[in-house]
Amino acid sequence: MVRVRDIVDVLEELAPRAFALRDDSVGLMIGRSDKPVRRLLVALEVDRWVLAEAEAEEADLLVVHHPPIFRPLADLRTDRGNVAVLARLLSEDRSVYAMHTNYDAAPGGMNDVLARRIGLVNVRPFGPGSEVGYVKVVVFVPEGHAREVLRAMAEAGAGHIGNYDHAAFLGRGTGTFRPLPGADPFVGEVGRLEEVEERRLETIVPEERLSRVLAAMRRVHPYEEVAYDVYPLREPRREVGLGRIGELETPTPLGEFAREVKRRLARPTVRVVGPLEREVRRVAVVGGSGSSWAVAAREAGADVLVTGDVGYHRAREALDMGIALLDVGHDVEAVFVPEVAAYLRRAFAEREWEVEVRESGVTWDPFVTIGCG
Ligand SMILES: [Zn+2]
Repeated sequence: MVRVRDIVDVLEELAPRAFALRDDSVGLMIGRSDKPVRRLLVALEVDRWVLAEAEAEEADLLVVHHPPIFRPLADLRTDRGNVAVLARLLSEDRSVYAMHTNYDAAPGGMNDVLARRIGLVNVRPFGPGSEVGYVKVVVFVPEGHAREVLRAMAEAGAGHIGNYDHAAFLGRGTGTFRPLPGADPFVGEVGRLEEVEERRLETIVPEERLSRVLAAMRRVHPYEEVAYDVYPLREPRREVGLGRIGELETPTPLGEFAREVKRRLARPTVRVVGPLEREVRRVAVVGGSGSSWAVAAREAGADVLVTGDVGYHRAREALDMGIALLDVGHDVEAVFVPEVAAYLRRAFAEREWEVEVRESGVTWDPFVTIGCG
């Protein structure tokens, strides 16, 4: 029986909660973690149209991008606003899980998806984001098993810093232990004090990968009782930028670039701020409402920032700063639905879980543009 908490683990492998901005609301927000899940629905957000879909599809869990509760609620009146929707989900025992800025920032998440769809190369994080801390893991491994243990830990995310992976230190020493009655020791025998040549393997692990790394280590470690330590570290701490920046293969005039992005992201319209004939090469991407990132994008050397929800004053500021803006609409984030659905289908197939994944068919864009053509 697959439960909400099992699916939460799978989702947090894709977008660890540690990647969320500090003031964001993410995670399981409505319902209960022990709820069995036979069918889930992926949607951009929860509203009455999505509720109707969830009811028609009999979805036990909704996986959404926009948190259903964002600002503190002042009341729980069910005769107006979205509270009615939330109350109905509660009474029908449907759970809602949100991954918001943690999905934006995650490797392979929102902004990586958009950068890939736009066709950028050399894509890397930029701008403000969440601070990710590290811990040091020290594990004692019998001679001859250190490489295998290190490999398993590295594959789970240990020893990765900057442009290096498999970063670790291996020392030699002597371990002692005495197996007690009931033990099934890998070396030695019950009741006799043993001395064994061991390697001391130390490596760093991002905090949000710790449980995965320890599980991977235990899977390959030969000992019944593994000796290991986890040390909190004050340094390093790294800021993982939420946006992405990359380059076009060839510099392109802004107007032409805008038409290409409109086509690649299948947008009905795009709005452009900046001289259409000026060539752009370095492109920043922040899905959703990201015009406040223009300064960081400019500082990172971007010629143009692709985002949504660009208002009048931000647009004037961008002109003044000399960075172009491309407003592709906030609802460009609808790529969340097919991308996350595909990720979950793959993950469920690997685990042989029988959970159906449905994609919402709601049209998110509330605007109709009149006056083109
Ligand atoms: Zn958004």
